[in-house]
Amino acid sequence: MIERLHWLGHSSFRWQGSKTVYFDPWKLSKNADKSDIICVSHEHYDHLSKSDIAAVSTLDTVIFTSEEGRKQLSSLKIECKEVRAMVPGDTVDLPGIKIEAVASYNVNKGFHPKHTKKLGFVVTMDGLSVYHAGDTDRIPEMDGLKCDVALLPVSGTYVMTADEAAEAALSIRPKVAIPMHYGDIVGAASDAKRFESELKGKVEVKILRKEE
Ligand SMILES: [Zn+2]
Repeated sequence: MIERLHWLGHSSFRWQGSKTVYFDPWKLSKNADKSDIICVSHEHYDHLSKSDIAAVSTLDTVIFTSEEGRKQLSSLKIECKEVRAMVPGDTVDLPGIKIEAVASYNVNKGFHPKHTKKLGFVVTMDGLSVYHAGDTDRIPEMDGLKCDVALLPVSGTYVMTADEAAEAALSIRPKVAIPMHYGDIVGAASDAKRFESELKGKVEVKILRKEE
């Protein structure tokens, strides 16, 4: 199932399950598949990218995002079925897919303050639950978070460092952890490697190859 999860660079993923789900679509290729669901963690340009969202959204697409994300998307008038704002703790059950919004914020820097209610997501589909952490530090809400796959930022600067992300993975204990938020803007492949080596023998790490 996990091979249906495609890393598109930075924090951008396409999950090609019984529905097509994007997380934070960014710098997509020209012929990217259309979406059923788009999860946008917060309003920053590298997560809420108007051109990329518009490229994969159709009149049947439902977009889930923060309140600030909803405001910005509404003013952009992107073709979609609906833009739904969520706050951490909200859950939406749709046929075949469940979307849970979780907290995502900084604790030792000011880019993503907790009170702005930016989001991470736990999406469950086809018997697999995937946690996309958004732009976050290691936060207490991660303890006890249940998921099969955890997509965790590792670049430092705006988000967790690789060391902090490894600690986060140890408290979440997913079946598989996948590093993200590197290789574009901030962070390098060496951050993903460090994340992997720190979790060796403890949590399985898959470093995905970036797809176009
Ligand atoms: Zn951000």
